[in-house]
Amino acid sequence: MGKIFVIGIGPGGKETRTLEMLEAIRQSDVVVAYTTYAKLIQDLLDGKEVITAKMREEVYRAKVAIEKAMEGHTVAVVSSGDPQVYGMAGLVYDMACKNNVNVEIQIIPGVTAANAVAAKLGSPLSMDFAVISLSDLLIPPEEILTRVRKAAEGDFVIVLYNPINKPLLLEAMKIIKDVKKKGDTPVGIVKSAYREDEEVFVSTLLSWEEFLNKINMITTIIVGNSKSYIYNNKIITPRGYERRYDLHVVDSNS
Ligand code: SAH
Repeated sequence: MGKIFVIGIGPGGKETRTLEMLEAIRQSDVVVAYTTYAKLIQDLLDGKEVITAKMREEVYRAKVAIEKAMEGHTVAVVSSGDPQVYGMAGLVYDMACKNNVNVEIQIIPGVTAANAVAAKLGSPLSMDFAVISLSDLLIPPEEILTRVRKAAEGDFVIVLYNPINKPLLLEAMKIIKDVKKKGDTPVGIVKSAYREDEEVFVSTLLSWEEFLNKINMITTIIVGNSKSYIYNNKIITPRGYERRYDLHVVDSNS
Protein backbone atom coordinates (compact mmCIF):
# COMPACT_ATOMS: atom_id res chain seq x y z
CA MET A 1 0.00 0.00 0.00
CA GLY A 2 1.31 3.44 -0.92
CA LYS A 3 0.63 6.79 0.65
CA ILE A 4 -1.20 10.02 -0.15
CA PHE A 5 0.11 13.45 0.69
CA VAL A 6 -2.54 16.16 0.37
CA ILE A 7 -0.39 19.21 -0.15
CA GLY A 8 -0.97 22.95 0.06
CA ILE A 9 1.32 24.79 -2.31
CA GLY A 10 0.52 28.27 -0.97
CA PRO A 11 -1.00 31.13 -2.97
CA GLY A 12 1.28 30.76 -5.99
CA GLY A 13 4.80 32.11 -5.71
CA LYS A 14 7.83 30.06 -4.68
CA GLU A 15 8.46 32.27 -1.63
CA THR A 16 5.38 30.97 0.17
CA ARG A 17 6.11 27.26 -0.29
CA THR A 18 6.93 25.36 2.88
CA LEU A 19 9.93 23.07 3.35
CA GLU A 20 7.52 20.26 4.31
CA MET A 21 5.63 20.73 1.04
CA LEU A 22 8.86 20.56 -0.99
CA GLU A 23 9.90 17.37 0.81
CA ALA A 24 6.48 15.71 0.30
CA ILE A 25 6.56 16.43 -3.44
CA ARG A 26 10.13 15.13 -3.60
CA GLN A 27 9.01 11.84 -2.02
CA SER A 28 5.99 11.44 -4.35
CA ASP A 29 6.24 9.60 -7.66
CA VAL A 30 2.73 10.57 -8.80
CA VAL A 31 1.34 14.12 -8.67
CA VAL A 32 -2.38 14.77 -9.09
CA ALA A 33 -3.29 18.41 -9.67
CA TYR A 34 -5.70 20.86 -11.21
CA THR A 35 -3.99 22.03 -14.44
CA THR A 36 -3.24 25.58 -13.19
CA TYR A 37 -1.64 24.31 -9.96
CA ALA A 38 0.52 21.85 -11.89
CA LYS A 39 1.87 24.85 -13.80
CA LEU A 40 2.62 26.73 -10.56
CA ILE A 41 4.85 23.87 -9.37
CA GLN A 42 6.23 22.89 -12.78
CA ASP A 43 9.81 23.21 -11.50
CA LEU A 44 9.20 20.39 -8.97
CA LEU A 45 7.70 17.80 -11.30
CA ASP A 46 10.67 16.42 -13.24
CA GLY A 47 10.55 12.63 -13.54
CA LYS A 48 7.13 12.27 -11.90
CA GLU A 49 3.90 10.97 -13.36
CA VAL A 50 1.67 14.05 -13.48
CA ILE A 51 -2.11 13.59 -13.69
CA THR A 52 -3.92 16.85 -14.36
CA ALA A 53 -7.64 17.54 -14.35
CA LYS A 54 -9.96 20.45 -14.95
CA MET A 55 -11.54 22.68 -12.34
CA ARG A 56 -14.64 20.79 -11.28
CA GLU A 57 -13.04 17.35 -11.35
CA GLU A 58 -12.17 17.12 -7.65
CA VAL A 59 -13.88 13.75 -7.25
CA TYR A 60 -11.95 12.33 -10.19
CA ARG A 61 -8.68 13.61 -8.72
CA ALA A 62 -9.38 12.03 -5.33
CA LYS A 63 -10.38 8.75 -6.99
CA VAL A 64 -7.20 8.55 -9.09
CA ALA A 65 -5.08 9.38 -6.05
CA ILE A 66 -6.63 6.57 -4.01
CA GLU A 67 -6.28 4.09 -6.89
CA LYS A 68 -2.63 5.01 -7.42
CA ALA A 69 -1.89 4.73 -3.69
CA MET A 70 -3.55 1.30 -3.62
CA GLU A 71 -1.19 0.26 -6.42
CA GLY A 72 1.68 1.17 -4.11
CA HIS A 73 2.58 4.66 -5.30
CA THR A 74 3.36 7.68 -3.16
CA VAL A 75 0.89 10.25 -4.45
CA ALA A 76 0.85 14.02 -4.02
CA VAL A 77 -2.61 15.58 -4.33
CA VAL A 78 -2.06 19.27 -4.77
CA SER A 79 -4.29 22.17 -3.65
CA SER A 80 -3.52 25.87 -3.79
CA GLY A 81 -3.16 27.62 -0.45
CA ASP A 82 -3.98 25.17 2.33
CA PRO A 83 -5.56 21.85 1.29
CA GLN A 84 -8.10 21.92 4.13
CA VAL A 85 -9.48 25.34 3.20
CA TYR A 86 -11.87 24.57 0.31
CA GLY A 87 -9.20 22.18 -0.98
CA MET A 88 -8.83 18.44 -1.50
CA ALA A 89 -8.12 17.26 2.08
CA GLY A 90 -11.68 16.60 3.26
CA LEU A 91 -12.69 14.91 0.02
CA VAL A 92 -9.69 12.55 -0.02
CA TYR A 93 -10.40 11.51 3.59
CA ASP A 94 -14.15 11.15 2.85
CA MET A 95 -13.58 8.94 -0.14
CA ALA A 96 -11.00 6.77 1.60
CA CYS A 97 -13.43 6.34 4.50
CA LYS A 98 -16.54 5.64 2.36
CA ASN A 99 -14.62 3.03 0.35
CA ASN A 100 -13.02 1.53 3.43
CA VAL A 101 -9.55 2.08 1.99
CA ASN A 102 -6.90 1.98 4.62
CA VAL A 103 -4.26 4.02 2.85
CA GLU A 104 -2.03 6.39 4.83
CA ILE A 105 -3.02 10.02 4.28
CA GLN A 106 -0.90 12.96 5.40
CA ILE A 107 -1.99 16.58 5.16
CA ILE A 108 0.71 19.16 4.44
CA PRO A 109 -0.58 22.61 5.42
CA GLY A 110 0.05 25.67 3.28
CA VAL A 111 -0.35 29.45 3.42
CA THR A 112 -4.04 29.96 2.73
CA ALA A 113 -5.36 32.86 0.65
CA ALA A 114 -6.74 34.60 3.76
CA ASN A 115 -3.26 34.94 5.26
CA ALA A 116 -1.52 35.70 1.99
CA VAL A 117 -4.02 38.38 1.06
CA ALA A 118 -4.13 39.84 4.57
CA ALA A 119 -0.35 40.28 4.51
CA LYS A 120 -0.67 42.31 1.29
CA LEU A 121 -3.37 44.50 2.84
CA GLY A 122 -1.67 45.37 6.14
CA SER A 123 -2.97 43.51 9.18
CA PRO A 124 -6.74 43.13 8.81
CA LEU A 125 -7.00 39.72 10.54
CA SER A 126 -5.59 40.74 13.91
CA MET A 127 -8.93 40.06 15.61
CA ASP A 128 -11.53 37.28 15.36
CA PHE A 129 -12.35 36.53 11.76
CA ALA A 130 -14.73 34.37 9.73
CA VAL A 131 -13.87 32.75 6.42
CA ILE A 132 -16.76 32.21 4.02
CA SER A 133 -16.76 30.74 0.52
CA LEU A 134 -19.20 32.35 -1.91
CA SER A 135 -19.15 29.30 -4.17
CA ASP A 136 -22.70 28.03 -4.51
CA LEU A 137 -21.76 24.90 -6.48
CA LEU A 138 -22.12 22.67 -3.41
CA ILE A 139 -23.86 24.95 -0.89
CA PRO A 140 -27.23 26.69 -1.50
CA PRO A 141 -26.93 30.49 -1.71
CA GLU A 142 -29.40 31.05 1.16
CA GLU A 143 -27.12 29.09 3.47
CA ILE A 144 -24.11 31.14 2.39
CA LEU A 145 -25.94 34.42 2.94
CA THR A 146 -27.13 33.31 6.40
CA ARG A 147 -23.50 32.74 7.37
CA VAL A 148 -22.52 36.12 5.96
CA ARG A 149 -25.25 37.80 8.03
CA LYS A 150 -24.27 35.98 11.24
CA ALA A 151 -20.60 36.83 10.73
CA ALA A 152 -21.48 40.50 10.21
CA GLU A 153 -23.75 40.49 13.27
CA GLY A 154 -20.92 38.98 15.30
CA ASP A 155 -18.64 41.83 14.14
CA PHE A 156 -16.13 39.33 12.75
CA VAL A 157 -13.63 40.47 10.17
CA ILE A 158 -14.99 38.63 7.11
CA VAL A 159 -12.87 36.91 4.47
CA LEU A 160 -14.72 36.03 1.28
CA TYR A 161 -13.27 33.29 -0.95
CA ASN A 162 -14.60 32.35 -4.41
CA PRO A 163 -16.32 35.67 -5.22
CA ILE A 164 -17.06 34.62 -8.80
CA ASN A 165 -20.86 34.75 -8.72
CA LYS A 166 -21.27 38.54 -8.94
CA PRO A 167 -24.99 38.73 -7.99
CA LEU A 168 -24.28 36.61 -4.90
CA LEU A 169 -21.25 38.76 -4.04
CA LEU A 170 -23.33 41.95 -4.37
CA GLU A 171 -26.01 40.47 -2.14
CA ALA A 172 -23.46 39.34 0.46
CA MET A 173 -21.83 42.79 0.56
CA LYS A 174 -25.23 44.48 0.83
CA ILE A 175 -26.07 42.33 3.85
CA ILE A 176 -22.74 43.22 5.46
CA LYS A 177 -23.29 46.93 4.78
CA ASP A 178 -26.85 46.85 6.14
CA VAL A 179 -25.79 45.07 9.31
CA LYS A 180 -22.68 47.15 9.95
CA LYS A 181 -24.25 50.54 9.14
CA LYS A 182 -20.73 51.97 8.76
CA GLY A 183 -19.90 52.93 5.20
CA ASP A 184 -16.25 53.63 6.00
CA THR A 185 -15.63 50.01 7.08
CA PRO A 186 -12.45 48.99 5.21
CA VAL A 187 -12.69 46.53 2.34
CA GLY A 188 -9.54 44.95 0.86
CA ILE A 189 -9.58 43.23 -2.50
CA VAL A 190 -6.57 41.23 -3.61
CA LYS A 191 -6.24 39.53 -6.93
CA SER A 192 -3.59 36.85 -7.60
CA ALA A 193 -1.64 37.39 -4.37
CA TYR A 194 1.96 36.20 -4.76
CA ARG A 195 1.48 35.64 -8.49
CA GLU A 196 2.80 37.68 -11.42
CA ASP A 197 -0.43 39.61 -12.02
CA GLU A 198 -1.00 40.52 -8.35
CA GLU A 199 -3.24 43.56 -7.69
CA VAL A 200 -4.17 45.06 -4.32
CA PHE A 201 -7.06 47.48 -3.74
CA VAL A 202 -8.01 49.17 -0.48
CA SER A 203 -11.52 50.58 -0.33
CA THR A 204 -14.60 50.82 1.91
CA LEU A 205 -18.10 49.34 2.11
CA LEU A 206 -19.36 52.53 0.41
CA SER A 207 -17.06 52.45 -2.61
CA TRP A 208 -15.74 48.89 -3.11
CA GLU A 209 -17.99 48.39 -6.18
CA GLU A 210 -15.58 50.58 -8.19
CA PHE A 211 -13.42 47.45 -8.28
CA LEU A 212 -16.18 44.99 -9.15
CA ASN A 213 -14.82 44.41 -12.65
CA LYS A 214 -11.38 43.58 -11.19
CA ILE A 215 -12.78 40.70 -9.18
CA ASN A 216 -12.20 37.27 -10.71
CA MET A 217 -11.85 33.70 -9.47
CA ILE A 218 -8.39 34.30 -8.02
CA THR A 219 -9.54 37.18 -5.85
CA THR A 220 -10.13 37.26 -2.10
CA ILE A 221 -12.01 40.04 -0.31
CA ILE A 222 -11.57 41.07 3.33
CA VAL A 223 -14.11 43.28 5.12
CA GLY A 224 -12.93 44.80 8.40
CA ASN A 225 -14.77 44.81 11.74
CA SER A 226 -16.16 47.90 13.50
CA LYS A 227 -12.66 48.85 14.75
CA SER A 228 -10.69 48.29 11.54
CA TYR A 229 -9.22 51.40 9.93
CA ILE A 230 -7.19 52.50 6.93
CA TYR A 231 -3.75 54.04 7.45
CA ASN A 232 -1.32 54.75 4.56
CA ASN A 233 -3.50 52.62 2.30
CA LYS A 234 -3.23 49.62 4.64
CA ILE A 235 -6.06 48.00 6.59
CA ILE A 236 -5.41 47.54 10.28
CA THR A 237 -7.62 45.77 12.79
CA PRO A 238 -6.49 46.59 16.32
CA ARG A 239 -6.23 43.73 18.76
CA GLY A 240 -7.25 45.95 21.67
CA TYR A 241 -3.88 46.73 23.28
CA GLU A 242 -4.90 50.36 23.71
CA ARG A 243 -7.44 49.26 26.32
CA ARG A 244 -4.64 48.17 28.64
CA TYR A 245 -1.54 50.00 27.45
CA ASP A 246 -0.43 53.45 26.38
CA LEU A 247 0.64 52.95 22.75
CA HIS A 248 2.49 56.28 22.37
CA VAL A 249 6.12 55.92 21.41
CA VAL A 250 8.18 58.17 23.68
CA ASP A 251 11.03 60.04 22.04
CA SER A 252 13.94 59.30 24.40
CA ASN A 253 15.77 62.51 23.39
CA SER A 254 13.03 64.85 24.52
N1 SAH B 1 -7.26 26.05 -0.76
C1 SAH B 1 -7.20 27.44 -1.18
C2 SAH B 1 -8.56 28.00 -1.50
C3 SAH B 1 -9.23 27.34 -2.69
S1 SAH B 1 -10.76 28.09 -3.10
C4 SAH B 1 -6.52 28.27 -0.09
O1 SAH B 1 -6.31 27.77 1.02
O2 SAH B 1 -6.16 29.43 -0.35
C5 SAH B 1 -10.25 29.23 -4.36
C6 SAH B 1 -10.30 30.65 -3.84
O3 SAH B 1 -9.13 30.92 -3.07
C7 SAH B 1 -10.29 31.72 -4.92
O4 SAH B 1 -11.57 31.95 -5.46
C8 SAH B 1 -9.78 32.93 -4.15
O5 SAH B 1 -10.82 33.50 -3.38
C9 SAH B 1 -8.78 32.28 -3.18
N2 SAH B 1 -7.39 32.36 -3.70
C10 SAH B 1 -6.59 31.32 -4.01
N3 SAH B 1 -5.37 31.75 -4.40
C11 SAH B 1 -5.40 33.10 -4.33
C12 SAH B 1 -4.43 34.12 -4.60
N4 SAH B 1 -3.21 33.83 -5.02
N5 SAH B 1 -4.81 35.42 -4.41
C13 SAH B 1 -6.05 35.73 -3.98
N6 SAH B 1 -6.99 34.80 -3.70
C14 SAH B 1 -6.68 33.50 -3.87
